[in-house]
Amino acid sequence: MTDIRFGAATDTGRVRKINEDSMLHSPPLFVIADGMGGHSAGDVASKIAVDTLAEQVDDATDSLSKAVRTANRVIFEQSKIKPGQSGMGTTLTAMMAGPTSAQIVHVGDSRAYLLRAGTMTRLTQDHTVVARLVAQGKISPDEADHHPRRSWLERALGNAQEVDLDVHIFDTEPKDRILLCSDGLYGMLDEVTIQQVLDSEAEPDAASRRLCDEAVAAGGHDNVTVIVIDYPPGPTSSTGPTDNSSKMSASPASKALAKPKRPLRTVAIAAVLVLAAILVARSAIKSQWYVGEAAGKVTIFNGVKGSVAGFDLSEVFESSDLLVTELPNLYRDRLKVGMDAESADDARQTVADLKRIAATAPTTGVQP
Ligand code: MN
Repeated sequence: MTDIRFGAATDTGRVRKINEDSMLHSPPLFVIADGMGGHSAGDVASKIAVDTLAEQVDDATDSLSKAVRTANRVIFEQSKIKPGQSGMGTTLTAMMAGPTSAQIVHVGDSRAYLLRAGTMTRLTQDHTVVARLVAQGKISPDEADHHPRRSWLERALGNAQEVDLDVHIFDTEPKDRILLCSDGLYGMLDEVTIQQVLDSEAEPDAASRRLCDEAVAAGGHDNVTVIVIDYPPGPTSSTGPTDNSSKMSASPASKALAKPKRPLRTVAIAAVLVLAAILVARSAIKSQWYVGEAAGKVTIFNGVKGSVAGFDLSEVFESSDLLVTELPNLYRDRLKVGMDAESADDARQTVADLKRIAATAPTTGVQP
């Protein structure tokens, strides 16, 4: 029996229509995945990640990394064949909480923090463009915090056949408190506030609920997901994957939803298609913008990507001199889907950001 206790909470927030975060809390395994992709495909990607881990992780030390690599391939393969799921992906921050040590496997910009003896430290690095620009001294941490493209990822599950994982193993101590969260938490609350809540709420349930509520109250610009894991005051006894399983039904995003629900998914896709048709019919198409690809170059389009009865719903507005092949795969895929913009100027800003990414992209990230 494990003595580890936990609390978990998730919220769609005030701006997004659906919650594309998924989580799993099935001690000793805890996972947060924050999906991305048009037409609600991010929701699909984060669920695949969580479901795959729920099914495949066992006690072996390398089991977590293996399962994450499998999830990556499943999302990647599905994104190539399923309509509307092209370019989908997800972050993933997973923790195996052993009795005296813990393992964290991480890709993307969800985070893990350790609160120990009154000090909070971050255990993960964000795999974002702005985090790299900060590391290279090109922008300040403060600029990064407020950068309009701060959530652009350099690494995610599902964007290529293989994925680089960060694996972090550390010895745990009695009373350690670990926080896993999606960017919807730290994007709304600064780390001082997060620590204040963790310090003032003794129960992991209350701590996770209050962090989630405060992020929503602060604006709720994104989906918020939080898991708080507490080690006991004394030595921890051995843990087992089935311990605490009764708690799993406590949350809508838990393992209870792990079984694939294909009929529901089909209905959801149909609903999205109908919604898309209504939106296309209703909206002034000319007021819509996206950045995509034409003749191998990054190009601004006016209208909506796609066609109806053979008629293109968009036209080239402005071409750029940036070749698509200069960009990392992740952005090539996103250009294929089309990167939405709010205006012509917003689209130009996206092109400028892409140029900066191309200019600073590490060569290892660029594949033919
Ligand atoms: Mn997010």
